[in-house]
Amino acid sequence: MKVCNKCVLPETYPGIQFDDNGVCNQCRSYSEAETRETHKQFPDGSSLARALQGFKNPNHKYDVLVPLSGGLDSCFTLIQIKETFGLRPLVFHSDHGWDDPTATANVEKLCKELDVDLVIWKNELVFMRKLFRYFNQSRYPELSACHVCGNMLYLNGLELADNFNIPLVVNGYSKGQAAMMHDKDKAQDLYGKMIEIILETGDREFFDIFTKKWQLLEKQVIYNNRSDLESGPLPGKLLFIPFFIFKFYKTQKDKLQQICRERFDWQPIPTSYPASTTNCKMIWLNSWMDLKRRQYTHYHDEYSTLIRAGEMTRQQAIEDLELNPPAGLLKELADEIGLNLDGGNS
Ligand SMILES: [Zn+2]
Repeated sequence: MKVCNKCVLPETYPGIQFDDNGVCNQCRSYSEAETRETHKQFPDGSSLARALQGFKNPNHKYDVLVPLSGGLDSCFTLIQIKETFGLRPLVFHSDHGWDDPTATANVEKLCKELDVDLVIWKNELVFMRKLFRYFNQSRYPELSACHVCGNMLYLNGLELADNFNIPLVVNGYSKGQAAMMHDKDKAQDLYGKMIEIILETGDREFFDIFTKKWQLLEKQVIYNNRSDLESGPLPGKLLFIPFFIFKFYKTQKDKLQQICRERFDWQPIPTSYPASTTNCKMIWLNSWMDLKRRQYTHYHDEYSTLIRAGEMTRQQAIEDLELNPPAGLLKELADEIGLNLDGGNS
């Protein structure tokens, strides 16, 4: 299988084209976009801090909602929000049923250390099992179950922010995740496919929960450059900032790990995919299915952006993306959600 010489996107990636040097069109267009967008950025952390002061929410208890997975990126984000920017955060952690106890422990330790309020949101297991089953066996390989689940967890965050009158959500998304979010045409296309798949199941109850949640996106506005932030809050809207979008914050694991270990005894989760991330257990099955169905996971997409941004080497990405699930785990997870690993319903 052909893979880009600069990033890790394979020939099965939708719309990919390689030049004579084996470099993909995404890598070629990246440096152009990078130059074009430099003016949108804050020159340093202190100018960002000044802009964020405009988001204080004096009539309510919290200024900002910070989703926390327990991984390094989101933990670092929370520390910055509280201590560097002086905002009052409400922390949100999603436990959809396959969360690792080490991740939850990291979340609880950090919230205690920073003395901030924490909400742990447990999803309804029946709904989540169906979600993983429907999308791991759908006829659209470009529709990853992780993508659908990630959207649901994100929407839980928006719902919580909305309920607590918190106008701002700052999420520890890497530049790679932020780039994926900004591809609106792709997101729209995938949403249409999700609805198709759900309608085909005939599961009306699932459809109703799913589409009702999705309506919250109408309130969401993504803020990702200097002029957005300096324009301040938008009444009636939920503003979302992917924290690592700013140039001076880099998702460098070793540096973030040192900070988090010293600060609150952060612990890595014992086994994760991709290596050195803090993801849930279901990611093993979803990624295995994605590799089987389309030869890449959404991490190949994200890490390719990180390679282009100089935050990860190609070699590191290749090593981290190698999938070696613990023995018996795939079968165990597949049984939990009623998925036949050889295809179809079990
Ligand atoms: Zn490439």
